Formats: sequence, C-alpha cells, structure tokens
Amino acid sequence: MRKLAAGNWKMNGTGASLSEAQALIAAQPSPACEMLLCPPATLVARLADVARGSALMVGGQDCHTNDTGAHTGDISAAMLADAGATSVILGHSERRADHGETDALVHAKALAARKAGLVAIVCIGETLAERDAGTTLDVIAAQMASVPEDSTAAGLVIAYEPVWAIGTGRTPTIDQIAEVHAFLRARLTERIGAAAAGVRLLYGGSVKPSNAGEIFAVPHVDGALVGGASLKAADFGAIVAALSAS
Ligand code: PEP
Repeated sequence: MRKLAAGNWKMNGTGASLSEAQALIAAQPSPACEMLLCPPATLVARLADVARGSALMVGGQDCHTNDTGAHTGDISAAMLADAGATSVILGHSERRADHGETDALVHAKALAARKAGLVAIVCIGETLAERDAGTTLDVIAAQMASVPEDSTAAGLVIAYEPVWAIGTGRTPTIDQIAEVHAFLRARLTERIGAAAAGVRLLYGGSVKPSNAGEIFAVPHVDGALVGGASLKAADFGAIVAALSAS
C-alpha cells in the first residue's frame, strides 16, 4: 500500500499561495509516499496546472451529491475531476459542524465521488465530550455508516480526526491513536470485506514535523491528513519526508 500525506488548506489561500506548492514540488520531487494538497475550490484548477507532471496530486474539500443542477454555491465531483482533482475530502468535522452534514449525506457524497472517478477521503472522529465520556469507539463505529459498503481499496481513504485535536496543538496519545486505528481496520473489514486491508487509514489532528515520525510508526496509520502545517512547504515537506521514511 502506498502511504498518503494529504494537506487540507481549508478556507486559506489565494494565487500567491501557489508558490508554496511550487516549493513543495521542488523539495519533494519523488517522495516514496503519495502527496496531495486540497486547496479551496478557487485554486483547484490553478494548482492542478502547477502540479502537472509532478508527484503532487490535487483534491477538493467537499462535493455535492448531484452532478449538475440548481444548487447555488455548490460544486460537483465531476466538476472537481474536470478541474484536475483526483480525490475529495468528505465529511470533515468542520463541514459536519458548520453545515450539519450527516453520515447519510457523506455516504451519498462518497458515491458521487466514485461516479466521477475521485478517491473519497472520508473523515470521522469523536468530539472531546465523546472522548471524555468514553464513547470514542462507539462514535467511530456509528460513523462507519458514512462509508459505502461496496467501496474499493483504491477508491476510499479514511481519516481519523479527533475533533478536539484539529487546529488545537493537542494530539491523542500514541496508544489512543493505535487503539482507534486497529478498531477502525476491524470495523472497516466488517463493512467492506477484504478490500479494507488496502484502504489507507490516515490520522489527522495537529500533525507537525515534530510529531509526524512517532505517529507514522503506529500500526494501521497509513499517512496523515494535515491542516495548518500543510500551508507551508517547509512543514508539509518535512511531514512528507517523515512518511516516506516510515
Ligand atoms: C484538519 O483540519 O483536517 C486538520 C487535521 O487540521 P490541523 O492539522 O490544523 O489540526
């Protein structure tokens, strides 16, 4: 399985930010892992132009369930693919919180992504209240409803992102990450069968160059989904290097 370092720029970045992508490509011309940046929709096509012929892949941060139609402000998976994206983040906790996205909606979006030939990067993770209540594994099990039962290893990536670790500088302990990722692999096997063995399971939440190495050593951690640290080529490049070396 080829590991994956995925960066989520969220609602950050203008044309000037493309220089960071150029610097990343220059610093990591042929990493041993896959390297993906998901910029805001306004930059997908421009980043795809910058990345053409390089090891850098481009993704979207969300898609609609339909291909076309009267959905002002939305973007379809087919449009992302047309703009040069090869994958799309779905069900990020910020979309679940800001836009009320449910597991059922994320499931429908994952089907739309597949129809357009995009890899669906489905995000799951518990809140701090759920962690403190001891219900983390129950929450993870319930959120598996976001994943289409007939998913393939090539078409699906799952990102475990504890909500309380996103953008906070806090991370779970290595044992907590290991527990969730092993549980996730087992539940995914129940849901999609043997294909689960080849699905990349990413950890996300305050991954930085300083903690990437120990996180990537955890069994069933096949890469990272990185927010803040993906905005700077030096930081994201160091994370790509740590994953390549793992
Ligand atoms: C994210 O939003 O997916 C994320 C992991 O953010 P950060 O790395 O900034 O915690």
